[in-house]
Amino acid sequence: MLFLKSILFGLPALVLATDIQRCATKSPGSQLKGLHVAQAKVDSQNRLNGKEALDNTFPKVSVNTYVHVIASSQVDDDTPQAQIVDQINVINRAYRRHGFTFLLRNITRSFGKDWSSIVPDTDSELKIKSALRQGTYADLNFYIGNIGDGFGGILGYSTFPDYVSRDIFDLDAVVIDPGTLPNGTISKYDLGATAVHEIGHWLGLFHTFQDPLGPIINFGDGCTADGDFVYDTPAESSPAWGCPEGRDTCTGNSLSREGKDPIHNFMDYSDDSCLNLFSAGQMARAHVLYQQLRLDSNNINRN
Ligand SMILES: [Zn+2]
Repeated sequence: MLFLKSILFGLPALVLATDIQRCATKSPGSQLKGLHVAQAKVDSQNRLNGKEALDNTFPKVSVNTYVHVIASSQVDDDTPQAQIVDQINVINRAYRRHGFTFLLRNITRSFGKDWSSIVPDTDSELKIKSALRQGTYADLNFYIGNIGDGFGGILGYSTFPDYVSRDIFDLDAVVIDPGTLPNGTISKYDLGATAVHEIGHWLGLFHTFQDPLGPIINFGDGCTADGDFVYDTPAESSPAWGCPEGRDTCTGNSLSREGKDPIHNFMDYSDDSCLNLFSAGQMARAHVLYQQLRLDSNNINRN
């Protein structure tokens, strides 16, 4: 029994291969997966007709961004406004060339025992987010605070866009640890790329190592089938750590998405200094999903 227990509890450490958890975003729902499958077919047909996704064809989209800092006390809030502005600048350097601009609308700060951390999938998470959420479903609510119950070392997580109920609307957000901000305290993850990655999920993108048949976090094999459903991100079997130039984990099969692993892609797990791009196919997909799920009139005003 003890042996079994150690196997079970040993599994996350083996899977993560590190003390930190890069991303705690949960599995996407079947509706979002279905939209990816359908759009991948459209992309494929367009490419047969000679129409590739190009950055200069994307619409210009401005996303209102509401930042919420939470901490157990004002003394524990060590996130100055300048650091938040730096983070927004990092986000815009990654996204603006693809048509998305994130506009910092305001910053709220909440202190006290009830605001000491956000623990995913708890009543307290819903309480915190319900109290602070602003804007419509097309607007980004961006939380900066400790994540989890103190054991996880989670750097960030996001919700995916979906067809919304009231709770889904309230929970809709990106959450990051303050140590991941530019000039933050978490070594190797202190250039602001965690926020860029999580906003990728918020826009509907999957990990580059996504196994379409498995859950989104780390399990399964990203070499299989359609991976992340985006044609121009080469297949990748598992997350990249550090910056393993030349890594190629899906060789020798008949994939259409051949090529070296996309270790510089923001939707991988590499160190912040290694992450510097999205593919045009990913951003074409993000625009379609933003339009369908976040600007759709049935979804936008649930507040
Ligand atoms: Zn992620």
